[in-house]
Amino acid sequence: MAYSLRVCHLYGDLMNTYGDLGNILVLKYLARQMGVDLTSEVVSLDQEFDPDQFDIVVFGGGQDFEQSIISKDIQHKKQALTSFIEDGGSVVAICGGYQLLGHYYIGANGEKLMGIGALDHHTDKQKDHRFIGNVVIQNEETGEKYHGFENHQGITFLGKGERPLGKVLEGHGNNGQDHTEGAIYKNVYCTYFHGPILARNNQIAKHVLLNALRRKYPDADLSQAEKVPVGSTF
Ligand code: GLN
Repeated sequence: MAYSLRVCHLYGDLMNTYGDLGNILVLKYLARQMGVDLTSEVVSLDQEFDPDQFDIVVFGGGQDFEQSIISKDIQHKKQALTSFIEDGGSVVAICGGYQLLGHYYIGANGEKLMGIGALDHHTDKQKDHRFIGNVVIQNEETGEKYHGFENHQGITFLGKGERPLGKVLEGHGNNGQDHTEGAIYKNVYCTYFHGPILARNNQIAKHVLLNALRRKYPDADLSQAEKVPVGSTF
């Protein structure tokens, strides 16, 4: 293979709601077609995250209980994760992972779980309610439509430097109020979509891989990788 990329599956043993692990399988599958040998490793509780060892971080969704444990542990990884993100590292963060990259998440029982504030959003609590169901959004820059399934009680409000992954066409998205879904900041893609998102929306997987390749191989001619076709959303 012409290239290699390494994925950190952050808290992959604890944050894997609705088969979010499938996102890594999709990255591997697409990477192979792009001439990339992609390997992954779980980094979990009490383990160091070394930003120099990884090109992509995948952080799945989870329940409040797991999030309460991770909220404490991730503070030790805050600096390393923030510098990875600021340096243009690629991240895919789903639901509970998305929430913990922001400032805080208020759980269903009212407990405030601190995030790392690497991104400027925060997540409040709905009153005895969850958003559950199919979602369709459209990215306003590319025009791409993305399809997914959401199941969350938290409502997220974006902050400085963040743009939504898409405008909500169907479903609830970040908060059910401002028609935004997910967040993009530098090379970080956040979303409430489970499913897993990259299986249903290969275009995002391709963006993530190309961003990571451009960062790791700035002088390479990536035109062959750019030509690899992706399926349409369904
Ligand atoms: N526990 C969080 C919430 O309910 C995240 C849920 C998830 O990752 N599916 O909002």
